[in-house]
Formats: sequence, C-alpha cells, structure tokens
Amino acid sequence: MTSTEISRVVPHVRQVDWRTSALCRTYRPEVFYPKQPGILTDKAKAICSRCPVAAPCLEHAMSPPFEHEGVWGGLTGEERVALRRRRQRIARRAASA
Ligand code: SF4
Repeated sequence: MTSTEISRVVPHVRQVDWRTSALCRTYRPEVFYPKQPGILTDKAKAICSRCPVAAPCLEHAMSPPFEHEGVWGGLTGEERVALRRRRQRIARRAASA
C-alpha cells in the first residue's frame, strides 16, 4: 500500500505524510541548515518556493516544540519567530475584541 493509500484509510497519517513529497529530500541537509545565512539560505528558500508541501512543512516547524534552526516552509528560524509573534498579536486582538 502506498503512503497515499494509507492516508485515505487512516486520515491522521496525513499529519506526517507530507514529508514523502518534500523537495528537500533530494538535497543535502546543509542547504537547509547553513552555517552562515545569505546565499545558502536563498538557495533553500528557492527550493521551498517550488515545494508542494511548503504549507504543512511550515506549520510543522511552527508547532511545539518549534523549530528554531534551518529553513522550513521557506522561512528561516528568525522569520518563523517573527511570524509566531504576528500570529500571537492577531490572536490577542481577536480575543480582546
Ligand atoms: S518547504 Fe522546504 S523545507 Fe519544507 S519540505 Fe518543502 S523543501 Fe523541505
């Protein structure tokens, strides 16, 4: 049974199934975990921009325990922290409205 067939039978398997379609699987991890930001980060982001599972990848990285390192879903760790803060501000405003 393929992973797609499994996810149809057992819907919660979709939670991890996105990894099987990840474009980064064919690249070296160093591309996504550069020692120095800059051009290497740009390469990872370019790959992520073509990835069919960028959205679930980003949400995985944003979920506890939160991925601080590397490029996930097209965002660096710093960019994910900024996104988390924006989401928290929006949630606080919505809760107080
Ligand atoms: S969005 Fe980027 S890091 Fe996430 S699975 Fe796709 S290629 Fe990999």
